[in-house]
Amino acid sequence: MSDIPRYRRVLLKASGEALMGDQGFGIDVSVVDRIAADIAEARKMGVEVGVVIGGGNIFRGVAVASKGGDRVTGDHMGMLATVINSLALRTSLVKLGVDAVVLSAIAMPELCESFSQRQATAYIDQGKVVIFAGGTGNPFFTTDSAAALRAAEIGADALFKGTQVDGVYSADPKKDPTATRYEQISHQDVLREGLAVMDTAAIALARENNIPIIVYSIHEKGGFGAILRGQGRSTLVADL
Ligand code: UDP
Repeated sequence: MSDIPRYRRVLLKASGEALMGDQGFGIDVSVVDRIAADIAEARKMGVEVGVVIGGGNIFRGVAVASKGGDRVTGDHMGMLATVINSLALRTSLVKLGVDAVVLSAIAMPELCESFSQRQATAYIDQGKVVIFAGGTGNPFFTTDSAAALRAAEIGADALFKGTQVDGVYSADPKKDPTATRYEQISHQDVLREGLAVMDTAAIALARENNIPIIVYSIHEKGGFGAILRGQGRSTLVADL
């Protein structure tokens, strides 16, 4: 097994829910510290890392819309939640001595820098971990779509989707004991079979830009580094 990482530059997508650990809401700092440690390991291997974090542990726009509220305002609140999570991850990375910066799709200069493709790429070239906050900056999108978009913009070799389970299954493995895990599946088949990997827009964007998606368990300590070394359990979503 080679120590040379499989990918040179990657985009890691972690859902907001991954950050809340066993709590029903918010941020469990010990969980964020562990995810930061996985990113630090990847940096030690020389892998360049961008990160997109969701906001579902704090707020989702649909929660407002489902109660008759304004969806756009709800989505703005959801995007703010991703900024909170991004600042938490930067704090954990800095504690570990990893150079990390938050770039937000929504300008809030007192808190962090604003996103531009040029600045993001420059920072990644310098070896900084770039955390993309604020999703795409637009309502009616998700942070999955933001992850596919930023992966394309920074020229990532792969998009890592950290989930609750260790890959893509034929059915929900928590509900159906006969569900089987795919080792590899095409973007097209994920779309055709409606498998819950990422939302449709994100899969389509990744496919159009030939970006493979690696679905793995974000709760597996060291899982990110293992997959980068060609080990570990995951599903590769890639067109053959
Ligand atoms: N959001 C948005 N535009 C974006 C990304 C996110 O409006 O480009 C809002 C939306 O309300 C969403 C919330 O931010 O529900 C949190 O993002 P997401 O649901 O993708 O988080 P995750 O499920 O990954 O925790």
